[in-house]
Amino acid sequence: MHIGLEPNNKVSPCPFCGGDNLDLHNTHTACYTVECISCGANVTGKSFGTNRRSEDLTLRDHRNAKSSALAAWNRRAPGKACDCLRGAK
Ligand SMILES: [Zn+2]
Repeated sequence: MHIGLEPNNKVSPCPFCGGDNLDLHNTHTACYTVECISCGANVTGKSFGTNRRSEDLTLRDHRNAKSSALAAWNRRAPGKACDCLRGAK
């Protein structure tokens, strides 16, 4: 079950417990966190939260932030070094 995730989001199972009970959430800014409900592991993506120029740009920022969080999470697949602090494009 992927609470908060959209059907087209590709997200790897939790690298720590193997669970796929994951949540994707954000605060009021365009910065998202993928969290494993089972063990609490979480990865936060790049923040795009400072742009408030227009509604379109804000929506785009949220999409980018979501993608960034998912990419950061997926890079944490078992056997790979964590580079989650390097940021996502
Ligand atoms: Zn887990």
